[in-house]
Amino acid sequence: MSAPLYSWGRFPRTPQRGHGCIWLDELPGHLDKVIEAHRSSLPYGNGRSYGDSCLATSNQVLHMRSLDRLIDADWDDGVLTVEAGVTLAEVLTVSIPRGWFLPVTPGTQFATVGGAIANDVHGKNHHVRGTFGRHVRSFGLLRPGQPGITCSPDANASLFSASIGGLGLTGIIHWAQLQLMPIRASQIDTTTVRFANLAEFFALSDELDEKHEYSVAWVDCLAKGADTGRGVFIVGDHAPYGSLDVGRRTKLSVPLTPPVSLINSLSLGVFNTLYWRLHPSQRRLGRSDYEPFFYPLDRVLHWNRIYGRRGFQQYQCVIPTANAEAAMAELLRAIAHAGQGSFLAVLKRCGDVRSPGLLSFPMPGTSLALDFPHSEQLENVLFPRLDAIVRAAGGRLYPAKDAHMSGADFRQAYPAWERLEALRDPSLMSRFWSRVLS
Ligand SMILES: Cc1cc2nc3c(=O)[nH]c(=O)nc-3n(C[C@H](O)[C@H](O)[C@H](O)COP(=O)(O)OP(=O)(O)OC[C@H]3O[C@@H](n4cnc5c(N)ncnc54)[C@H](O)[C@@H]3O)c2cc1C
Repeated sequence: MSAPLYSWGRFPRTPQRGHGCIWLDELPGHLDKVIEAHRSSLPYGNGRSYGDSCLATSNQVLHMRSLDRLIDADWDDGVLTVEAGVTLAEVLTVSIPRGWFLPVTPGTQFATVGGAIANDVHGKNHHVRGTFGRHVRSFGLLRPGQPGITCSPDANASLFSASIGGLGLTGIIHWAQLQLMPIRASQIDTTTVRFANLAEFFALSDELDEKHEYSVAWVDCLAKGADTGRGVFIVGDHAPYGSLDVGRRTKLSVPLTPPVSLINSLSLGVFNTLYWRLHPSQRRLGRSDYEPFFYPLDRVLHWNRIYGRRGFQQYQCVIPTANAEAAMAELLRAIAHAGQGSFLAVLKRCGDVRSPGLLSFPMPGTSLALDFPHSEQLENVLFPRLDAIVRAAGGRLYPAKDAHMSGADFRQAYPAWERLEALRDPSLMSRFWSRVLS
């Protein structure tokens, strides 16, 4: 039997049994058999969601990763059709040498295309290109006991919209057609500068976001007082010349899971301070390969193991523009006061490009994301405090990262949930959905 599957945060620790199949035409029969045997299931891509959105209530998931073939490519127009288990890394391996890049990519290239659609993922260029779902031309959707259907903005449009950010609940996406973005080089021209506080972050973002394709900041989540919100701001654009090389950096790996988390306030404090000090106070221009720019964490395989057997949780929220600066300051003060957080918290402006998805996470505003080792103190003290700040500021949490949000908060923040529930296939149920609807 294959090894049990988990979500990336390994919390909640509910092992899933993966049912995979090798060929696309076997999938309908395979899906029906799994549902017949276990009554309920859920598609599972590559388990890069942190919380419980990729975990089935039945603990029996349809593992899509082995459906990993390219189906069709039009390299004149950058239109690529793939099986849904293809990873973003696999897309880039074939597209970069031909001068095409993913128009939207999250911070890991190990997500599958199906998973990227089902969470309607966003990247460092949300302010320019919106979410992944905007660049999906069509996909095939399979529901148990029914023939597959093609969904696009013009065909089965309500299922198209509900499945983008649909958390795998509307059916199994088995293939997808993507519109890629032309590039001349795979390197990224960057400008890096550190900022001393949140006000400086917002000023830099106001000035630089509109001039650059990519924009992101790393924040020292332990800095207090006048240093609250200090960090490093990075903007980038695809280089106008260079090579179309695909990343082939050797990967390091964390070989085993230690019994307890290696992340503590001492290691965090030292790392965050050093990271901040090592970056320039004046703007520095540079050129980076695309992998370290987009996917710094992918360099270390199984890095999630450093959080130990209890796992970890990511907290990612977005706060609407009008309240963003005040709420971010409050959130960062609460986190620094608790002395918890991740090596690098990610702060980023989201733009107003609308997603076709019903339950897409981004909204015009600012998003903060950071990891915490799992503990009772986190669940009972810090998260409720952070949730209260997000709620009061009219913000919301990201289902792809979540393992704790209350049903009331979810339903308040995502009023379209009822439309998704109406289109959910009754035999597909995740731990996330059953938690936030109860
Ligand atoms: C290091 C790291 C950085 C990240 N950075 C970002 C970021 O910058 N932006 C961002 O938005 N996200 C980010 N993420 C989250 C990640 O991109 C998403 O959770 C992504 O959806 C994971 O894809 P997956 O293939 O692993 O899907 P899984 O995690 O296995 O599943 C995710 C959801 O998709 C559904 N699903 C999977 N396959 C299918 C299918 N074929 N058909 C229908 N539904 C399906 C599942 O049921 C589940 O609800 C990051 C994650 C990591 C680990």
